[in-house]
Amino acid sequence: MASAPNVAFTTVPVIVIVVGTRPEAIKLAPLIHALRRNTALRSIVVNSGQHLPAVRHCLAGFGIDCDNALPALPAMQNLGVASRHLRHALRTLLHRMAPAAVVVQGDTLTAYAGARAGFDLALPVAHVEAGLRTSDVADPFPEEWFRRRIARYAPWHFAPCRSAETNLIAEGIAPMDIYRVGNTGIDSLRALLERSRIHSGLQRTRNVMVTLHRRENWDAKAEIFCDALIELAARHPDLRMIFPLHPNPRIARRIRRRLGSHLAIALVDPMEYPEFVRMMAEAALVISDSGGIQEEAPHLGTPLLVPRSNTERPEGIATGFVRLVDVDCQCIVEAATALLALPSRAPLPIDAHAPFGAGDAGERIAGVLERVLVPASAQ
Ligand code: UDP
Repeated sequence: MASAPNVAFTTVPVIVIVVGTRPEAIKLAPLIHALRRNTALRSIVVNSGQHLPAVRHCLAGFGIDCDNALPALPAMQNLGVASRHLRHALRTLLHRMAPAAVVVQGDTLTAYAGARAGFDLALPVAHVEAGLRTSDVADPFPEEWFRRRIARYAPWHFAPCRSAETNLIAEGIAPMDIYRVGNTGIDSLRALLERSRIHSGLQRTRNVMVTLHRRENWDAKAEIFCDALIELAARHPDLRMIFPLHPNPRIARRIRRRLGSHLAIALVDPMEYPEFVRMMAEAALVISDSGGIQEEAPHLGTPLLVPRSNTERPEGIATGFVRLVDVDCQCIVEAATALLALPSRAPLPIDAHAPFGAGDAGERIAGVLERVLVPASAQ
């Protein structure tokens, strides 16, 4: 693994933050704001082009413009080709910018290519949301593989929760290079709840919010998932399902074909983050294979059913709001019915005891980056 560098700069160190997808935008926005408030550091936001318009749009919602953007990533024949292409493009850009450090978030193609490009150029890499693991390197694919590789390239690991910190230590990362700061996604959620009128009361609608995007759920499992939603709608005629389709055309096409004419299921475009969070806060149930939603749902007091065989967020399960379910029609219908029958519970407060942090991770990461990048004499 990369060792922590001994960095000393006379000018203001420049940090490049690479953003490729909507969840990275949502989770990096608090860090970008914190870095922009910090006069000892300069930040440059690079849109990797993986989901070019979605990132531009999502960051704009947080009042952030991209400083630089690569061309939209074309459809490639496989992940290996795409990752080589993106790594090369990012390496060329980073070489020109010669930053003091590179920041990547999570486990996407962009995070992997950005970390690898930084490593190729001997630039220190800060990994935000480091250490999340399932016990299976192939599931979820390719995310589990990407995040394990990024840990090898990064000298600084920002763990979102206790289990992530434990995982990194078990993999041989030196404890002094791990900073358990919480998840920056919770910073965004906290800021949104504080400034908006989102009300996660005990009185709920009969709406069910649904999302599905993971690669393992693209094909045969997407069919089973659709069967389950149809069966659930038949079992509970008072429910209304709202299903924002992921930008990935492969899964969106399949779901449109199966559910497009169902009267109780509204297929909609990806929703703006504040609107999506508001709808989750008022919903009776969320059904989603998303990672970030496992952290958000407990703080909105909304039960979440996760159609996956494992999770990298055991802390979410421990809150009692999150339940895993096999992608099997009857299992999904029974588990959803059981969650719908539970009495409403108050949301988990975002405070010092919250499993994914108190909503100050961005500020804490910026503080660490200042400490490691700015010479003591200049602080
Ligand atoms: N989200 C959103 N609009 C939507 C669906 C989800 O803003 O229509 C947000 C959601 O609140 C969470 C993030 O997107 O913060 C989850 O992204 P996604 O499911 O794509 O990825 P993952 O969390 O698995 O990385």
